[in-house]
Amino acid sequence: MKCTIKNCPGEYEEKNIVHTVKYKGDVIVIKNVPALVCQICGDVLIKPDTIKMIDRILNNKSKPELQVPLYDYYSYTR
Ligand SMILES: [Zn+2]
Repeated sequence: MKCTIKNCPGEYEEKNIVHTVKYKGDVIVIKNVPALVCQICGDVLIKPDTIKMIDRILNNKSKPELQVPLYDYYSYTR
């Protein structure tokens, strides 16, 4: 599928991405999210079904499989 960004000649390819969302003030990271990613500009499309699934993951308060280190860029700029 052709990229939808203006003047980008790229094509989307299926990839599993690391998706970062802000949820109620927290940063949540979900890995292995299936998405379409443009090989040239990096534009990311996530299918509506996948978005529904992400909402389900966020709403069901299960314990995450992994914890990730989180750095705050802001704290290095002071
Ligand atoms: Zn593109």
